[in-house]
Amino acid sequence: MQLKEKLLQAGVGIREEQVLDTPEALLCYGYDATRQMSQPQLALLAETTAQVAAAMDLAHQLHIPVFPRGAGSGMSGGSIPTGTGMVISLTRMKQILELDLDNLLVTVEPGVITGDLQEEVARYGLMYPPDPASLAFSTIGGNVAENAGGPRAVKYGVTGNYVRGLEVVLPDGSIINTGNKCVKSVSGYDLTHLFVGSEGTLGIITKILLRLVPAPAVTHTLLLAFAEMEKAALAITDMVRQHLIPSTTEFLDHHSINAIRESLPFTLPPEARTLLLVEVDGDEESVQRESSAIQKLVEASTVMMLTASEKDERDVLWQARRSLSPAIAKIAPDKLNEDIAVPRSAIPAVLARIEAIAREVDLPIVCFGHAGDGNIHVNIMLDKSDARQAAMGEKAVKDIFAATIELGGTLSGEHGIGNTKSDFFPLEWSPATIAAMRSIKRAFDPDNILNPGKIFPS
Ligand SMILES: Cc1cc2nc3c(=O)[nH]c(=O)nc-3n(C[C@H](O)[C@H](O)[C@H](O)COP(=O)(O)OP(=O)(O)OC[C@H]3O[C@@H](n4cnc5c(N)ncnc54)[C@H](O)[C@@H]3O)c2cc1C
Repeated sequence: MQLKEKLLQAGVGIREEQVLDTPEALLCYGYDATRQMSQPQLALLAETTAQVAAAMDLAHQLHIPVFPRGAGSGMSGGSIPTGTGMVISLTRMKQILELDLDNLLVTVEPGVITGDLQEEVARYGLMYPPDPASLAFSTIGGNVAENAGGPRAVKYGVTGNYVRGLEVVLPDGSIINTGNKCVKSVSGYDLTHLFVGSEGTLGIITKILLRLVPAPAVTHTLLLAFAEMEKAALAITDMVRQHLIPSTTEFLDHHSINAIRESLPFTLPPEARTLLLVEVDGDEESVQRESSAIQKLVEASTVMMLTASEKDERDVLWQARRSLSPAIAKIAPDKLNEDIAVPRSAIPAVLARIEAIAREVDLPIVCFGHAGDGNIHVNIMLDKSDARQAAMGEKAVKDIFAATIELGGTLSGEHGIGNTKSDFFPLEWSPATIAAMRSIKRAFDPDNILNPGKIFPS
């Protein structure tokens, strides 16, 4: 009997329209934001935990690889089917199951869109802080599997800091629960956080318990322009030293500024070579105090400073950051983008190393990102159809990773390893560390059927 028939007869209410097996339907389940494309043999649009468990059980018995999938917005190939197998899409499991206002917790299914959850809890004066730029379309399940972060990570942390518990279908089809609603809980291994960031390789997340925080009453935005990157880097360190922790500190380098300068709704002085977009949030009094302290701190080192409190005015300042991705696309037809992270104090050093690499490979490398938490989006701009540029682009990636690790950094701050960075994994981790990670994978998935080909070097 074919896999499709077995799924339909599994006794868990799977209907024919939930099982896709035609090439045209499967087109939508074999891509992600890396532009890779690989078709699975079948895709199940799961609607319940029981359906996920039954499908996983079948795959286990038949030794069929399974690829969990959220919105497919991943930037490291995590949801790409490597070879034949079954995609299990979680996007139909999109209920907000319980909003527990007494404990400031929310229980959701994995297919809930991050932005939808944020909007829903905002109605109660609450905030779910993790804010990946993809929040309008990425799913909470995908965010947990990638431990997604965003601009607010500098003050509020990343997805993993908000996950209190999970329901997970293991590779043999069994269902486990981890964590609980208690503020304190040290009963046994912290399995919850073993699944956070596991990129769909240890289990399929079918329910998520998340912590919420009271929404800040006021947000103030500052756009700071510097003539030298070093001064911007110093401003960030000075803020931290003075215990001023903005909710956001985004930075744009001179390539980024050149790409957006003409389209901005305000004029930047010609000498501006680095921008910082800083936000502080909290109650009225603390925001006023912190914002004034930051302005005083950077007064002498900036060539321009703009401030905004109202949402419309703040949106105008954010245009600098939001218009960036489409704007840099004009620099070259293709880009190789990485999301390295370094300790905050190493930002100037890593940017200097990247500039030197750019000169050596003779390609523009655009850097922007979350300066407040050391996570830098590095975009090597090139034309892949040009053999020299393609080879130089690959060399630049290798050299940037090597420089990052040398400076105490990591291959990925947000996007994960997937299948795009797996061959670089040994740069960061020793053979013994990789062996320890592999033994965890083997303990959960001895037959290597769940998302094979991800994270570990081939
Ligand atoms: C324009 C754009 C901006 C982005 N900005 C950010 C950003 O600011 N910060 C950031 O961190 N990322 C960002 N990303 C990357 C991406 O959106 C995140 O990694 C996101 O968490 C992926 O969610 P998804 O639902 O699309 O998951 P998918 O891409 O479908 O899957 C991602 C991984 O999670 C696994 N997975 C998905 N659902 C489950 C589940 N229920 N159980 C187990 N495993 C699962 C998949 O197997 C895969 O390994 C951006 C992407 C785009 C395209």
